[in-house]
Amino acid sequence: MEKDNLITVTSPLLPDPDELNTLLREIWASKWITNNGQFHQQLETELCRYLKVPYISLFTNGTLPLLTALQALRISGEVITTPYSFVATTHSIWWNGLKPVFVDIDPTNCGIDPDKIEAAITPRTTAILPVHCYGKPCDGKRIQQIADKYGLKVIYDAAHAFGVEQDGQSILNWGDMSTLSFHATKVFNTAEGGALIIHDEATKKRIDYLKNFGFESETEVVAPGINGKMDEIRSAIGLINLRHVDQAIHARQQAALRYREALRPVKGIHFFDDMPGVRHNYSYFPIFVDAEQYGMTRDQLYEKLRNHNIYSRRYFYPLISSFDTYKALPSAAPDNLPNATRIANQVICLPMHHQLSDSDLDRIINLIAQPHTT
Ligand SMILES: *Cc1c(COP(=O)(O)O)cnc(C)c1O
Repeated sequence: MEKDNLITVTSPLLPDPDELNTLLREIWASKWITNNGQFHQQLETELCRYLKVPYISLFTNGTLPLLTALQALRISGEVITTPYSFVATTHSIWWNGLKPVFVDIDPTNCGIDPDKIEAAITPRTTAILPVHCYGKPCDGKRIQQIADKYGLKVIYDAAHAFGVEQDGQSILNWGDMSTLSFHATKVFNTAEGGALIIHDEATKKRIDYLKNFGFESETEVVAPGINGKMDEIRSAIGLINLRHVDQAIHARQQAALRYREALRPVKGIHFFDDMPGVRHNYSYFPIFVDAEQYGMTRDQLYEKLRNHNIYSRRYFYPLISSFDTYKALPSAAPDNLPNATRIANQVICLPMHHQLSDSDLDRIINLIAQPHTT
């Protein structure tokens, strides 16, 4: 029997090769391929406008801005964070020689639960590192109130939240800094890439030094910086992709609407609806499988989809707190993280990208809507 065509969980937004070629010829002619070149500067300007943020600093991936933000804000001691994320969130704390402290999530948005933050604060706590999981805004107001009360910094891992707005304002302006990832799997990509969102000019300057080894001038190094610079080729990819990202988000929204309409009657399958006042980016489409109601476990459904050549992903399973590096931390105990533990065992992120056809979506939906078939 012929196998149905492969449906992947994601598919990168790709620049038209001819358009890219035009920009590559400009780069070649200038012989300036990295170090704050023309396209790097242009992409920063255009992203500030698109994202409605005052300052941005481009990086070579989405992990280095996390590391650099913690450095720049001189975070020490303990950092409160979520176990329900991509592992880079906690790794960035570790790489700074800091101690991650895991706090459980709120099941209504999969972000850190503000009600549980205060109990995790100790005299050594200096920062909170929340994640806008799936691009759903955290409870930013409550998090900021707690941060202000205890004098803590807030750094948002906004890797999923490109272009997300609440009440007409970019959520990337929340906290002290926010980080973005432009990895190929994200809504907007530069193949590999990332950025830090910054609120003032002096900090922007400092971040630009830090991502270039700390060089302030040819002969002065002001801090132990790192090499996090985005090059001209990837900046060019970003400039082209930025022109098509609204269209891609629109296509994702259409897919999300179709999933929701078709899956709403299916017993035991739960998912998120849009939040009022939020401009979503539809970066992921997580469903949560209640095995008892649905009649099949999450992993059985995951395998069934795979057998039909449909590749979903279990984001985020396993929890970061269950990896060897972190599992001995007292805050990593599953008893401390009941919501995250439950949700990590229920979640499947269905295929979600700008090129899903109606027949792709029907194939996925039909398999999920019939839990008793293999
Ligand atoms: C993708 C991602 C990162 C890391 O970004 P890279 O560009 O892959 O380094 C960090 N945090 C979260 C939540 C992510 O999804």
